[in-house]
Amino acid sequence: MMVSRRGNRMLNIAGAGHRNTEGTMLIDTESRHGHHDAYHAYANPAALTWCLACGAVFERGEWRWAERPGEAVQALCAACQRTRDGRPAGLVQIDGDFARAHRDEIVALLQRCADQAKAQRPQQRIMAVTDTAAGVQVATTDSQLAHELARRLQQTHRGELKLHYSDAQVLLRAQWRR
Ligand SMILES: [Zn+2]
Repeated sequence: MMVSRRGNRMLNIAGAGHRNTEGTMLIDTESRHGHHDAYHAYANPAALTWCLACGAVFERGEWRWAERPGEAVQALCAACQRTRDGRPAGLVQIDGDFARAHRDEIVALLQRCADQAKAQRPQQRIMAVTDTAAGVQVATTDSQLAHELARRLQQTHRGELKLHYSDAQVLLRAQWRR
């Protein structure tokens, strides 16, 4: 645990196999259910591929926004498959009195941030925003995006941020509270 000069708790990034010592809220669901590589093939298809749901193109080793190639394989990209399956790669849990009072503003901030990311990187999307008893949960198709959204929240509103990766670093759970 790092402590900032303002006294807020900062990034608490758990490595592979590391348990959060402060509680049991963060659970290694991915490793427990063996979904390590479930989306690897969607993220890294073997051939030139065009996503028939969103139109992204996989070429030269990554998904990008591009014209539909003439002879591409038609398939779903990882982001579209995850959205269809309801299986996020990142979860940002937003809790606390401040968060509840500013719920719409916070969700709009994260949506703008995600829209910017998606314009550059087609696999980085918000797939669901869910109101929970404690606050709001934002599910993303990409763990880096969840990390980026959580950091944006802390940069903008300070508060307390915890990050936890599953054993295989497939699922990132970020908890931001203020
Ligand atoms: Zn797609």
